[in-house]
Amino acid sequence: MLDYNTIETLHIEVTDKCNASCPQCARNQSGGKVNSHLPLVELSLNDIKKIVPVELIHRLKSALFCGNFGDPIVAKETLEILEYFREINSNINLSINTNGSARDVSWWTRLGEVIQNKGNIKFGIDGLADTHALYRKGTDFHKIIRNAEAFIKAGGNAHWDYIVFRHNEHQVEEARALAAQLGFKKFIVKKTGRFFSNSKLEKKDHQDVLDEQNQPIYKIQPPVNPEFHNSSLAREEGLIKQFGSMQSYLETTDVSCKSLQEKSLYVSSEGLIFPCCWTANQMYVWYVPAASTPLHKLLDSHGGPETINAKFNSLESILENPFFKSIQESWSCKSISEGKLQVCAKTCGSSFDQFKDQYL
Ligand code: SF4
Ligand code: SF4
Repeated sequence: MLDYNTIETLHIEVTDKCNASCPQCARNQSGGKVNSHLPLVELSLNDIKKIVPVELIHRLKSALFCGNFGDPIVAKETLEILEYFREINSNINLSINTNGSARDVSWWTRLGEVIQNKGNIKFGIDGLADTHALYRKGTDFHKIIRNAEAFIKAGGNAHWDYIVFRHNEHQVEEARALAAQLGFKKFIVKKTGRFFSNSKLEKKDHQDVLDEQNQPIYKIQPPVNPEFHNSSLAREEGLIKQFGSMQSYLETTDVSCKSLQEKSLYVSSEGLIFPCCWTANQMYVWYVPAASTPLHKLLDSHGGPETINAKFNSLESILENPFFKSIQESWSCKSISEGKLQVCAKTCGSSFDQFKDQYL
C-alpha cells in the first residue's frame, strides 16, 4: 500500500458532527435520526499536531478537509488547524467541502485570508433560496451566501458545487449566473450517483426524506434531463446484461485504487487512518449492526481500530500494519465471498464509478 515517504495528500475528517441533515448522507437515516453508530467526536489542533508530523506537512501538496460524516466548519478548531498547516507550508493547497451554513462572517473572512487562491472552499449549494434546503436540510441559503461573500471578499477562492435533482434542475443556469455575479471562481454541476441502493445493489428512482422522528415528509428524485444523469447509473442495465447482475460485476471487476494513484491517505475524526474515505465509511454504516462490515472484520483480525489510531501510533508505523496490505491483497481474491472487498470493487472497479461520473 502507500509508503509513508510518498504521501502527497491528506484527506482529513475533522469531525463527524454536522449542523445539517442531508437525506443521502451517511451521518443520518435518510435525513432523520443521526446514525447511532457514530462516536460524534472531533480532532483538535493538538490532535493534528500529534497525528501529522511537521516534516510531512512541509512536503504535502494538498490537504482536503471533508470526510464522510460531518462538516469541517462545525469543529471547534478547524480554522486554527488550517492556519497551522499554512504557517508550516505556505504553498500547500488547502480545501474544504462544506454546507457553508455555520459560523459568522468574521470567521469566513479569516478563512478567506488563510486559503487565498492556494486551494478552495467548495460550498454545497443545491439550488436557490426556495429549493436548496430540500436536500441540505437544516441550512439557510441566505446565510451561506453571506458567508461565501465574506470569504470571497477576503481573497478566498470559492467554488459552488451544485447537486442536480428533479426539484432544482430548472435553476442550474440561474444559479450559475448568480455564482459568477458573486465572484465564485467555479460553478460545478454534480450529476449525483447517490440514487443507488448499496444494500440491494440497484438504482433507486426516489429517496424518501425523513423528519427527526424518522417519519417520511417528502421525497427527492433524480433529474429528468439526461444531461444531468450520472453515467454509471445509466450503465447499470448494460452491466446487468453483460455480467448477469451487479453482484457478478463486482465479483469479477479489476480494482484500480484511487488513493494509491493520488498518493493520498485518510484521517477520520477519531484519528483512525484508512487508505480512503470509502473504506473509512465502512466503519459506521447505519443500516447494518455495529462493527459488522467486512472491513471491520478485516481490521479486527489485525489488532482492531486502536492499532490504526494516529493519536497513539505514528503514521509511519500504522502504514506498516498488515491491515493495509490485506486491503490490497483482497483485490485479487476470486470473489467477494473469498475476501475481495466489495467497497473496493464498487468504488474502484473498471466500469461503474458513481463518484468520478458526477463530474463528467
Ligand atoms: S452537510 Fe455534509 S456532512 Fe452535513 S449532512 Fe450534509 S452531506 Fe452530511
Ligand atoms: S475503495 Fe479500496 S480500492 Fe478504492 S481507493 Fe479505497 S482502498 Fe483503494
